[in-house]
Amino acid sequence: MEITDLFQGAYDLHVHTGPDVLPRKLDDLEMAKRLQRLGMKGYGIKSHYFVTSARAKLLNQVYPGMNVIGAICLNNSVGGLNPIAVEMAALDGAKIVWMPTFDAENEQQHFRASKPEKLPHWAKLRQEFERQGSPMPTINLFNGRELKHEVYKILRIISKYDLVLATGHLGKDEIFALIEAAGKIGVKKIVVTHPNFPSIRLSIAEQRELAQRGAYMEHCFTTPHSNKDTWESVYEQIHSVGPNHCILSSDLGQPAGPYPDEGMQIFVRNLLDNGFSTGDIRTMMVDNPSSLVEKEG
Ligand SMILES: [Zn+2]
Repeated sequence: MEITDLFQGAYDLHVHTGPDVLPRKLDDLEMAKRLQRLGMKGYGIKSHYFVTSARAKLLNQVYPGMNVIGAICLNNSVGGLNPIAVEMAALDGAKIVWMPTFDAENEQQHFRASKPEKLPHWAKLRQEFERQGSPMPTINLFNGRELKHEVYKILRIISKYDLVLATGHLGKDEIFALIEAAGKIGVKKIVVTHPNFPSIRLSIAEQRELAQRGAYMEHCFTTPHSNKDTWESVYEQIHSVGPNHCILSSDLGQPAGPYPDEGMQIFVRNLLDNGFSTGDIRTMMVDNPSSLVEKEG
């Protein structure tokens, strides 16, 4: 068996392709070509700033048979927790709704506390807005101890259009409250975005609890690749939570990283070398992602 056999029909639901405000390693046209060559079915276009459904629609015309997925990420550039933006994205065919990422209060708090030597591009952008006297707000889901009214509105839209709710860079308390509310409202498709990310760090017990509520844990190649977690810890988390409750994504597209499909091949090789079966890989890269973006919930 070739490792590429495992990629037939697979998805990578978290890819940062261009065109984008941030510099990217490749654009959508190149990405789709690479995935088609590998036999993959599709990928999720994640822009931190703009809705990507129109890009996905054009690609799907150019590559019939592929299923490129458009999305929205609820940072300030779309108005933050903006129900109208979510509904318009849904009407345009977007399938994934990421909660705030760089603009999440949780991420900002963690970022300020960790004081990295080299500022990432997105942080420079935020600083630039600050310098101009129009700082970007940070976004938190709570109003006191309750989820904000807009959050419920957004969850109802997600449920109405059968979209995938993904947790972005929210903090632990927000993730738990959000997923509980989502369950009550009838949201069927939930992804906990890289639960092992430094600003999130859900324990294995917490991941299992959320998995029991129907959420998939999304393990991203970049998290251990960029030393934000160890590979051993990733294997342990996936093993303990179970491949049935996990999906694999690259989270690549940064100029210095490998191509997303190359990263996924390294990811799969590492998993195969560390106790996971080809069946486990297919579950996490084909079956689970397909159930999120192809089937009705
Ligand atoms: Zn990402």
